[in-house]
Amino acid sequence: MFTITEFPLPYPTDALVPYISAETLQTHHGKHVATYIDNLNKLIQDTPYQEVSLTEIIKQSANNPQDKKIFNNAAQIYNHNFFFAGMCPNCKTQIPSEIIKAFGSEQKFKDAFKTAATSLFGSGYTWLVRDGNELKIINLQDADTPIVHDMKPILTLDVWEHSYYLDYKNKRADFVDAFLNNLVDWNFVSENLKQ
Ligand code: MN
Repeated sequence: MFTITEFPLPYPTDALVPYISAETLQTHHGKHVATYIDNLNKLIQDTPYQEVSLTEIIKQSANNPQDKKIFNNAAQIYNHNFFFAGMCPNCKTQIPSEIIKAFGSEQKFKDAFKTAATSLFGSGYTWLVRDGNELKIINLQDADTPIVHDMKPILTLDVWEHSYYLDYKNKRADFVDAFLNNLVDWNFVSENLKQ
């Protein structure tokens, strides 16, 4: 059994105002993530998936098309936890030099990330990943996640409409700007780059 307390928001729901409202975070974490957890618990009941970790559930179900619902709910718990962990209130953290080196400049990294995030059609996440020795920005659709593609996640932005619609309506680009300029916890990024 997974519980929402194993996947807490790392800050209060009003901590990211004015960039993300308390209402959005209450719904996003308290309703969406909670529902993925409830669904997963029901789906894995009395199956071998009950015995393994969340990341093992994701990796094993990714290889079994009949377990698509299990994959979707498990990956959504993982993806949201990673997304929320990558932001901080008033963090004043510095973009790591490795990102600047890989993309040419801070602005070039932000431009590339924004282009990806605004061009993702439908629901999904824009990810900064390490693929072999290379840092890449990729889009993955719906609940898809880098850990089933042998890529290491470094940072992600949830661009499902539930992530920004209450605050930004159809203006996804403004949400992406707020994320890149005011919300990313670069210390979280640095830690992931080290591992
Ligand atoms: Mn979401």
